[in-house]
Amino acid sequence: MTYPYKPQPFPYAYDALLPVIDAQTGRIHYEKHYFAYVDNLNKTLSVAPDLQQPLPELLVDKQLPESVRTGVRNFGGGVYNHELYWHMLKPQGGVQPTGQLAHQLVQTFGSIEQFKQQLSTAALTVFGSGWGWLCLDAHKKLLLKQTSNQDCPLSDGLYPLMCIDVWEHAYYLHYQNRRADFITAFWQLIDWEFIATRYVQAVVSAKN
Ligand code: MN
Repeated sequence: MTYPYKPQPFPYAYDALLPVIDAQTGRIHYEKHYFAYVDNLNKTLSVAPDLQQPLPELLVDKQLPESVRTGVRNFGGGVYNHELYWHMLKPQGGVQPTGQLAHQLVQTFGSIEQFKQQLSTAALTVFGSGWGWLCLDAHKKLLLKQTSNQDCPLSDGLYPLMCIDVWEHAYYLHYQNRRADFITAFWQLIDWEFIATRYVQAVVSAKN
């Protein structure tokens, strides 16, 4: 997909993630925040319509014209990050990971439980608005990452596998200031099959 970007559909009903994420939070997050990122990304690129790379390529491009650089970072990151976020969640998720991804999580973090604790801490301790991430580095090693605002790990040469949105817009209606409670509940929604497939595809593609 290239400029002009269209919003991707919300992958399930707004109330499908209850009781972890309430329907109003889902609707406002998607229809207001995410739509605004899409609109503002298109406004940003309207001054350089010749930039026809897909969004992941724009986010790694260090040679973008000054006129679009900040807009791609903020709004392009906002689009990419949210599309990954909703696709790695599912109703009644949270069954433990299996297969190659589970094996590598244990190798890297000691156990699945320690991995979950460490990513939870990374997300909890983001100062202000941002994200906690599980990523692959250039050597296909798993690592945790925090980003501020809508910065995307792709721009730092990392490939994101999963993320936790800790902007207040992601949880404040239901959890108010209790970010830790949101993060604890969040694990019930993880679509581990989606993340494991993304992991395998990224590792296999690196070998080609
Ligand atoms: Mn968000």
